[in-house]
Amino acid sequence: MNTTIDKENRYCAHNYHPLPVVIARGEGVWLWDDAGNKYLDMMSAYSAVSHGHSHPRMVKALTAQASRLCIASRAFYSDTLAPFLEKLCSVTGMDVALPMNTGAEAVETALKAARRWGYNVKGIPAGKAEIIVSRGNFHGRTTTIISFSSDEEYKQGFGPFTPGFKDVPFGDITALEAAITPNTCAFLTEPIQGEAGIVLPPEGWLKQVQALCRKHNVLLITDEIQSGLGRTGKLFAFQHEIDRPDALILGKALGGGMMPVSAFLARKDVMDQFTPGSHGSTFGGNPLGAAVGLEALRVLEEEKLTERSAELGAYLKDRLRGLNSPLVSEVRGKGLWIGMEIDPAKAAARTVCEKLMARGVLSKETHHTVVRFAPPLIITKEQIDSAVNAVREVLSELAEVKKRA
Ligand SMILES: *Cc1c(COP(=O)(O)O)cnc(C)c1O
Repeated sequence: MNTTIDKENRYCAHNYHPLPVVIARGEGVWLWDDAGNKYLDMMSAYSAVSHGHSHPRMVKALTAQASRLCIASRAFYSDTLAPFLEKLCSVTGMDVALPMNTGAEAVETALKAARRWGYNVKGIPAGKAEIIVSRGNFHGRTTTIISFSSDEEYKQGFGPFTPGFKDVPFGDITALEAAITPNTCAFLTEPIQGEAGIVLPPEGWLKQVQALCRKHNVLLITDEIQSGLGRTGKLFAFQHEIDRPDALILGKALGGGMMPVSAFLARKDVMDQFTPGSHGSTFGGNPLGAAVGLEALRVLEEEKLTERSAELGAYLKDRLRGLNSPLVSEVRGKGLWIGMEIDPAKAAARTVCEKLMARGVLSKETHHTVVRFAPPLIITKEQIDSAVNAVREVLSELAEVKKRA
């Protein structure tokens, strides 16, 4: 019995089902448990640790700012926010940014902006604005956001839900066109669905979506909280197909593996819907988060993490496909963001993760059938090789068990 695990189970809410490992330290792509065992992190906290654990430049930026000024509130201007948001607008190509903390808050900000824009600019009658989303989406856990989730597990017992949302199958342009009405203010989507199991839409879909949204004066809002900042081999996943969306949501890696930093970015006419007092967050845009966010963007650029993601992601995908395991029905993804679909008749994705853990590789299943590989973008080819070896051993062991059964 591990007393740390027992204690966490005793005092912490059971809203997660963690693998039985107690993480005590992290450095780069590595994690150590409380007994000193070392693991390769193939999960990077759902992309929040794209820079690697305790990146020296991130630690330096964090500690330097922490000893100078952490929290000022936006009741005043602070000297770190403008440089951060200037850089953020410049790398995204968006006009204006609104800083928040967690991803869900930035999504909520997007929903509010879209509705106001719908009323004030598009002229939708009061209370009638509709937002279309993709089925299978993951945008966070607030009551409004789960209202348009298609996952019963996220919703059961949490109603009544917020009205004003419609969903269409992910990647289905015909269904989207059919769902648009004069009251539609926005289409909100992930360019690639992360929590759904790293699901890619048909090629060309986002480009068609952009054209359709323009035709009907509907805002295209992409949620790149997980796919953004290099994860898919482009700085933003939308760049695989379009110049820029009308609004963009970022989080996770924006905090450089240090702390929650998120942002809603948009065209000026959309952001102008926010007036003093209409929206806010006590911690949003705090000096510590702004300094960390700025350094996170600089490190991404200067260490060419996006380029690494493109190159090493293609390599990892090839190597996983090359395993040709009968247990695996598909290996898909873009950049260092890969889902390995396990045939549920042959093995459980969780079993694969547990066995990988025993071999020093940490990942986490999603939706019971997918093992995800999303390491820090600083990973090397040799480290990928060692992870693939562990995957090969686990898959052949499980194939043996299945054969004997
Ligand atoms: C993680 C995630 C969110 C929610 O972010 P939190 O920081 O957990 O609130 C929203 N959208 C996407 C695409 C995500 O992956």
